[in-house]
Amino acid sequence: MNVVLFGPPGCGKGTQAARLKDALGVPHVSTGDMFRDHLSRKTELGKQVEALLAAGKLVPDDVTNSMVEERLGRPDAAEGVLLDGYPRNVAQAETLDRLLGARGRAVDVVLAIHVEEDETVRRILKRGQDSGRADDLDEGTIRDRFATYLEQTEPCLAFYRESGKTVHEIDGIGTIDEITQRLREALGR
Ligand code: ADP
Repeated sequence: MNVVLFGPPGCGKGTQAARLKDALGVPHVSTGDMFRDHLSRKTELGKQVEALLAAGKLVPDDVTNSMVEERLGRPDAAEGVLLDGYPRNVAQAETLDRLLGARGRAVDVVLAIHVEEDETVRRILKRGQDSGRADDLDEGTIRDRFATYLEQTEPCLAFYRESGKTVHEIDGIGTIDEITQRLREALGR
């Protein structure tokens, strides 16, 4: 099963994905986590994307798409993936269709978590205090990421609906358990 977990920064995608991957039996593929892993290992890619991540700007599509292509080709992804943070614009959504299509697969379900801007800002500022993540410390940067989500990422939902995919809309306000339950009901797992 190939699932796209969708929603603005701070909506809880990462938290929920960690819980859903076992229910689905597929790996959690978070492009944000992959970039942060490159940063902490100080790889060439990490150096290339460091300033973009800190500023809350998107990494160029060619870089992101190649990284995802490589990830989808690993053995543990053969039965499916739970994608988090990808696709982030319509061009990436088109690339994902092509990458999965080349493997005889497709996006099966889209789960869109809804949380309004001020609540995401509160959550991310709190996360920043705990984690020190560079893009989680400044309210302006966080609001810019939300604006980028509205401008570039949200149009992916219309793209998926137009291509006939199942898009489940999930209310992201509630306890972590409640939201996991809503997502599992939508997935039927
Ligand atoms: P959040 O959802 O809280 O913004 P992520 O961990 O998903 O956090 O992403 C962190 C950063 O990683 C983004 O602000 C961006 O710089 C980069 N990034 C992650 N995924 C993508 C993507 N699909 N395309 C481009 N940049 C990305």
